[in-house]
Amino acid sequence: MSMFCYQCQEAAKGTGCTIKGVCGKSDDLANMMDLLLFVTKGVCVYSSALREQKGYENPIVNKFVFDSLFATITNANFDKASISRRVSKALEVRNMLRDEAKR
Ligand code: SF4
Repeated sequence: MSMFCYQCQEAAKGTGCTIKGVCGKSDDLANMMDLLLFVTKGVCVYSSALREQKGYENPIVNKFVFDSLFATITNANFDKASISRRVSKALEVRNMLRDEAKR
């Protein structure tokens, strides 16, 4: 895998960690966290649209987004299995919102 992470202010040379994280983060974990953020953005696209168009509000979804963002904070969670499970859960939540949007 290749390493590029600019998820925090400690990034090497102020631009990004490219060999290994200054914080100790590995390339596979950095990529997995990027994936989690991308999928969580997808959750937010559906969640925001449903809120605006149908007044739909789901506190479980809101907490999931909050927790997912927190999980990517530097040094908060370097547990790859935990991040991987969260990516899978994010896909489930996104699909649930997509189905809700079709109703
Ligand atoms: S989170 Fe770690 S790997 Fe990413 S930019 Fe910050 S120090 Fe580098």
